[in-house]
Amino acid sequence: MKVITISNQKGGVAKTTTVVSVGGCLSQMGYRTLLVDLDPHGSLTTYFGGNPESSDPSLYSIFKDPKFPVKRVIVKTKQPNLSYVPASMALATVERSGSSKQGLGLLVKTVLSSVSNDYDFVLLDSPPMLGVLMVNALAACDILLIPVQTDYLAFKGLERMLRTLDMIYKSKKSSLPYLIVPTMFDRRTRASMETLRKIRLKYEENCWAQCIPVDTKLRDASQMGVPIGASHPNCRASEAYAALSRLVLDRLELAGAIKNAV
Ligand code: ADP
Ligand code: MG
Repeated sequence: MKVITISNQKGGVAKTTTVVSVGGCLSQMGYRTLLVDLDPHGSLTTYFGGNPESSDPSLYSIFKDPKFPVKRVIVKTKQPNLSYVPASMALATVERSGSSKQGLGLLVKTVLSSVSNDYDFVLLDSPPMLGVLMVNALAACDILLIPVQTDYLAFKGLERMLRTLDMIYKSKKSSLPYLIVPTMFDRRTRASMETLRKIRLKYEENCWAQCIPVDTKLRDASQMGVPIGASHPNCRASEAYAALSRLVLDRLELAGAIKNAV
């Protein structure tokens, strides 16, 4: 089981969209895939038809009682090989009260180990605020994807995110492989072109050489409650997310396993 976290200290940059789309691709390739919603706003949960205001059990059940069985929290989606752990708004209380409890930052990593034989990939959808939940998402993963919207404010969240990574991993004396994923790219706008150029210049080897284009089909897919690869397999965003998923597999040195999985 490999864990992929999608995080950025900025909202609206396509974190949840990337979790659903890459998770959708991996599940279509035949990998058993689990998505975990760590954002109290619960966008991922809502995407698949859940209600973060009333979801119970949810990820919160595990924060309340670390012995709560993860398997009882997992919900199947309409897509084969694709399940998720819903968030609930109560998760916000974890942010407020949790930081004092020792070891809480590793809770997600610890509980996921109990399902490590059931899934090939777990994707963690991080909230945009630095707190217990984001720390859990960063501490549990093998690779981090940082979606960055290609607009003028892109650098704000990105630089904050990289400082956070430094802070967390310096104390661990190791580093986490990460990949910056330019999103919502619109080649007709100067902001998109310029931001993409600047990000690539500054973060060269850590920036994906392609990008996710603006594509309204993503909104249509979210309304249908299925990943883009299932609803619009040939649209531009779907093809871009498929390419990204293949790169992530490469980075995780699993490329050879694609053929065996299906
Ligand atoms: P985050 O999780 O970072 O807050 P979301 O994934 O929820 O961001 O995306 C924010 C909004 O932008 C959503 O309405 C989503 O459908 C839309 N969106 C994401 N990626 C794209 C894209 N490539 N093209 C058009 N709209 C997009
Ligand atoms: Mg989100």
